[in-house]
Amino acid sequence: MTSFRSLLNSTSLDDHEQVVEIIDSLDAEAKRALAPVKKKLQLVLHGLAGRRFETLEESQSVARRLQIFFMEWGLRVKCPRVGCKDPTLLYCKQAGCNAKPSFEFVHSIEGKMTTHFSSRSFPAGLVVMDTPPDPRRK
Ligand SMILES: [Zn+2]
Repeated sequence: MTSFRSLLNSTSLDDHEQVVEIIDSLDAEAKRALAPVKKKLQLVLHGLAGRRFETLEESQSVARRLQIFFMEWGLRVKCPRVGCKDPTLLYCKQAGCNAKPSFEFVHSIEGKMTTHFSSRSFPAGLVVMDTPPDPRRK
């Protein structure tokens, strides 16, 4: 296997096709490196299924940390609503006036922000997925 530096030295960075090939190979390498992390994240989500944290703040801190992690690494979960399965993020909001946490999935459907699913306890059966490419980016 040739080293990346020698590959780079033998590549003409003036040739856009070769530059794209180099970026593609880095992209593939990053995805391979992320694969074991995704498996561990999946285990964490399974372990959290059905848990209830003591307070709204505790539930929100977990949901927020997961949101940041998912966004940083280009990940989403499949919406657990039957018949949906769209890529989405987990949120936690206050339900009612007595500060009860509610885990929710919010995503855009035909341009409208839509809430699917709502549960006091951490949702079960979450499946980690990659964020699909943005169709607006060409
Ligand atoms: Zn949904």
